Amino acid sequence: MAAKIQMAPRQDEHGGMAKHIFVTGGVVSSLGKGLTSASIGLLLEQRGLSVRMQKLDPYINVDPGTMSPYQHGEVYVLDDGAETDLDLGHYERFTNSPLSRDSNYTTGQIYQSVIAKERRGEFLGKTVQVVPHITDEIKDAVFSLATPDVDVVITELGGTVGDIEGMPFLEAIRQFPQDVGKENCLFIHLTLAPYLKAAGELKTKPTQQSVGQLRQIGIHPDILIVRTERPLGQENINKIALFCNVEKSEVIEEIDKEFSIYEVPLGLVDHRLDQLIVDKLELSAGTLDMSDWRAMLQRMRTPEHEVTIGVVGKYIEHMDAYKSIYEALGHAGTANQAKVLIKRIEAEELENQDPEVLLSGLDGILVPGGFGQRGVEGKVQAIRFARENDLPYFGICLGMQCAVIEFARNVLGLEGAHSTEFVADTEHPVICMLEEQKKITFKGGTMRLGAQPCTLQSDSVVADCYKETEVDERHRHRYEFNPEYRNPFSAAGMSATGTSPDGNLVEIVEVPEHPWFVAVQFHPEFKSKPLVPHPLFTGFVEAARTRHQKRMAMRL
Ligand code: GLN
Repeated sequence: MAAKIQMAPRQDEHGGMAKHIFVTGGVVSSLGKGLTSASIGLLLEQRGLSVRMQKLDPYINVDPGTMSPYQHGEVYVLDDGAETDLDLGHYERFTNSPLSRDSNYTTGQIYQSVIAKERRGEFLGKTVQVVPHITDEIKDAVFSLATPDVDVVITELGGTVGDIEGMPFLEAIRQFPQDVGKENCLFIHLTLAPYLKAAGELKTKPTQQSVGQLRQIGIHPDILIVRTERPLGQENINKIALFCNVEKSEVIEEIDKEFSIYEVPLGLVDHRLDQLIVDKLELSAGTLDMSDWRAMLQRMRTPEHEVTIGVVGKYIEHMDAYKSIYEALGHAGTANQAKVLIKRIEAEELENQDPEVLLSGLDGILVPGGFGQRGVEGKVQAIRFARENDLPYFGICLGMQCAVIEFARNVLGLEGAHSTEFVADTEHPVICMLEEQKKITFKGGTMRLGAQPCTLQSDSVVADCYKETEVDERHRHRYEFNPEYRNPFSAAGMSATGTSPDGNLVEIVEVPEHPWFVAVQFHPEFKSKPLVPHPLFTGFVEAARTRHQKRMAMRL
């Protein structure tokens, strides 16, 4: 992989342009640092500032692309093909910050780059050390986003303060004020004030201790954001301020939001976080305009319809494994004045019982992407049920490949038809490996990745949804629809309505006879935002809404 970091534009070379915000987390993991960072980005953008978002992940993997969704949740893919942490999905949904490979660094990448330099002889004569070589590399990663057009770079540090592997990152950001001036850096620390039922009170000690750990390293947080399930109350705020050596106004309560993650930024506005940041960094910002965001939340709160979508997958019990899919369904619901109830269905369970039991009462079925054979037969069953019962179906990546397998077996009568990913010597390889993939042996970052153009057939459901015939969507796969089967498929009623511009790769299939049966080789979920829902998700939920009305009328 090419080294990502070019000559880093240091602050002093550009006359002190971008300011830096570092977001760290303490006490426990899963505090919602990503959401909080994304919310800060949104608030600053809504004050007219140009923001860049970045996540530094202390694990050793070069990227999360090779990790199981059980370990890491979804892998979020960017336009440039970077396989990144799912927090980048929050950044893209909340802000307009352009994201690229430079938006996510891991310990693995940092070391890979330093070791490559050492091998090239760039440190000849020197001992290569964590300080300064690794820390310099980390700082370069942050500086790479601080281009002259940027007002604020927000860098979120993965993990929890106190983790061994996070130390070089903390040391690097500790050095930042020396490089760019104290006035240009802001350290925001996110902590938890747990409520102890037995004591009947919120506890501030964990916050004090995690701030203590930061101070030992030499970082003095400027703002504390405290996650809590109940209001902190003035007494706790006073206590935290006193023990952690910050002003009372610098202790911001972030109370759990029951309704939606999109409420988080508004909670922070209530505590004047945007103004605090603007004042502390002396940013010349406009007034805050959250009107579109508030209107979107208002629409979410007042749905007129309800639809139930079955998501049939393999990591169904893991809430983060299909994160962007669930978010995109929610956005499409808001666009359709509908509340989307999601029924998460374990694909394997469909293999042992009548699909009717698990799938009746749905208004639409979605099969998301995936790898490996477990659950594939269950997915095929679910798709058959959707196709035969006129139930709206949306297939994504593996969900498209399974739709092709199902159609081959049950409509074309190609018994045992399969993907060569699962049965290498299948008699009917309707899904096969992309030509470009055949020579590749390395696993990391080697799939067909990132934005690819797609040309749509004009008289198709998808062209109707997009309202255009040239689109760009993000990919992450090694297998594709076998072009040899295109003619028999379209003759039997499944047509390729989207292809690569040269016409060679099938990117979308549809069943025109069906009310709404669309399956795509790409991942539209990565481009859906609450204010800009993805047209295919919107079309799918609209079809589900129609189905729901019909179902209610017929008492199905
Ligand atoms: N496993 C399939 C492939 O590699 C599908 C990938 C996916 O769903 N992201 O082509």
